[in-house]
Amino acid sequence: MRYFGALILIYMLFGCANEKPVQTGEVTALDPKQQFEWKLVTSWPKNFPGLGTAPENFADLVERMSSGRLKIKVFGAGQLVPAFEVFDAVSQGITQMGHGASYYWTGKAEETVFFTSVPFGLNAQEINGWLHHGGGLSLWRELYEPFNLIPFAGGNTGVQMAGWFNREIKSIEDLKGLKMRIPGLGGEVITRAGGTSVTMPGNELYTSMQTGVIDATEWVGPYNDLALGFHQVAKYYYYPGWHEPGAMLEFIVNADAFERLPDDLRAIVEVATRAVNQDMLDEYTAKNNQALSELTNKHGVELRKLPEPVLSELRKLSDQVLTEISSRGDLSGRIAKSVKEFKEESMAYHFISEEAYYEARRVLLE
Ligand code: CA
Repeated sequence: MRYFGALILIYMLFGCANEKPVQTGEVTALDPKQQFEWKLVTSWPKNFPGLGTAPENFADLVERMSSGRLKIKVFGAGQLVPAFEVFDAVSQGITQMGHGASYYWTGKAEETVFFTSVPFGLNAQEINGWLHHGGGLSLWRELYEPFNLIPFAGGNTGVQMAGWFNREIKSIEDLKGLKMRIPGLGGEVITRAGGTSVTMPGNELYTSMQTGVIDATEWVGPYNDLALGFHQVAKYYYYPGWHEPGAMLEFIVNADAFERLPDDLRAIVEVATRAVNQDMLDEYTAKNNQALSELTNKHGVELRKLPEPVLSELRKLSDQVLTEISSRGDLSGRIAKSVKEFKEESMAYHFISEEAYYEARRVLLE
C-alpha cells in the first residue's frame, strides 16, 4: 500500500503541473494525463441542505465523469471569500467557479435580478424552459460577458414561502414600516408597498431576526428554513412565495479558466450543471413536505396564507416594476420583455395543463 501511495504521490506531483493543452501542429490533442484543479466558492454555509450540497454533488460528478482529470474543491461562505464576494472572486480569476444566486449581484448589474426569480413570474419548470429553450441563457451570457463570467443554471428551489413574520399580515397596510430581508425585485416591490427591504446572507438571518435588526425575513422553504431555525425567532410562516415562484441558483465559471479546458471537460462541466440543476429541484420536492409537517406539528409554527387583497396589491406593484423595466430599450428591457412574453405563453398553455390538472387532482382528494 505504501508503494502505491508513493506512486500516486509522484503522479500527482508531476502529473498535474501542466495546465496548458498539448499543441501538436494546429490541432489541440487530448492529453489524458492533463489534470486541472479548480476552486469553487459558494454563498452558502458549507454543505447546507440543497443549496450547499448541490455544488458538492457537482464537484463529485465532474471528478467521476472526467476520471479525475478535473478536480473541484468546494468552499462554503466565508471559508475562502464571504458569501457576497463570490461574483468578484470568480470574475477576477481568484477562483475558477462559484455557486450563488444572480440577484445578489445587483450592485454589479441591475439585470441580474431576472436570473433568480421574478415576482409572480416563471415557476421552476418554466424558468428551465425559458433558459434552455426560450432564449434566456443567451441573454444571461450576454449580461455576464463583460465580467469575464459564463453562467449556468445551478439548481432551483421551486415555489418558495412568503417568509417569517412576527406580526400578522391582514392588509397591505401591515407591510408599511416593515423591515424585511428580501432580495431582488421582490425587495423593490416591498419597498413600493411602504416597507424597507434589505439583502443579507442566510447565515446572518437568525441573529438579525432575534435581535430585531429585521422584522421579517424570507429565505427559501420548509426544508431550508427548518435548518436555520427560524421557528425559534418568528411566529407566523406565510405562503405563497409570490416573490420567488421558482428561484434559480447559478454556477459561474471564469471565462479564461473555461477556455483552458479541453472540449470534453467543458462538456462535462456543462452536463453536470444541468444534472445538478434538476437534482436540486427533485430534492426540494422530496424534502419540503416532511419539513413543513415538522414545523407545524412539532414546533407549533402558525401557517398563514397571504390574503388575496394583499397578493393582488403586490401583483399590481410587481407589474408596475416589470413594465417600467421592459419599456427600456437596453439589455434590461430586452430581458424583461423576453421573460414577460415567455410567461404569457406559458400561462396560456399551463392554464389548461398544469393548473387544470392541479385543480382536477384536488377535487379528487376532497
Ligand atoms: Ca428566497
